Amino acid sequence: MTDITTLCVFCGSRIGAVPAYADAARRLGTLMAERGVGLVYGGGGIGLMGVMAETVMAAGGNVIGVIPEFLMKYEVGNPDLTDLIVVDSMHDRKRRMFEMSDGFVVLPGGLGTLDETLEIVTWKQLRLHSKPVVVIDVDGYWTPLKGLVEGVIAGGFAHPAINELFTVVDGPEQVFAALDSAPEPKEEVLTSHL
Ligand code: AMP
Repeated sequence: MTDITTLCVFCGSRIGAVPAYADAARRLGTLMAERGVGLVYGGGGIGLMGVMAETVMAAGGNVIGVIPEFLMKYEVGNPDLTDLIVVDSMHDRKRRMFEMSDGFVVLPGGLGTLDETLEIVTWKQLRLHSKPVVVIDVDGYWTPLKGLVEGVIAGGFAHPAINELFTVVDGPEQVFAALDSAPEPKEEVLTSHL
């Protein structure tokens, strides 16, 4: 298991319907800063993304934002971060965030968060990396995602061990233990049907 010094957090550019979501973002940000773990994220100053960045910064932690030029005005790119990297495209953003991070944590979010999460899990299924991915199921928000993955397995479109590609926890307090104990991706997840 690799030492975690930098974590990428995927989360909504909106604040969400219940206060529990922002509360989880604040708790996660505080825990990261306490442990000296830097934040890599999408660079925006709005929604849960903004809450994460503000919390880590306020607690004295490092925050690196990666934002495509075209989103700077919409997502109110935050110039006060430790570093704000402006890139050309969404693909560049996701690649840079991937390269700079030792692991990934997912809070509630919208289609962008889903896209980022499924891409990083898919890359792991393809054995392009073995970095841990932890999904925080705040107030059951990601329960439908678990159901979707079960449906993919039941439908015969993936090996049952895709469940091991990411770990679902109930709250930020369980994130670091889950990162530490995340299993390595298995060869047969990719190859069992070949
Ligand atoms: P959302 O969860 O939809 O609020 O989006 C969270 C973050 O993901 C935001 O920074 C969005 O810019 C980004 N995002 C939205 N759609 C996509 C996409 N198709 N691919 C990659 N990132 C996205």
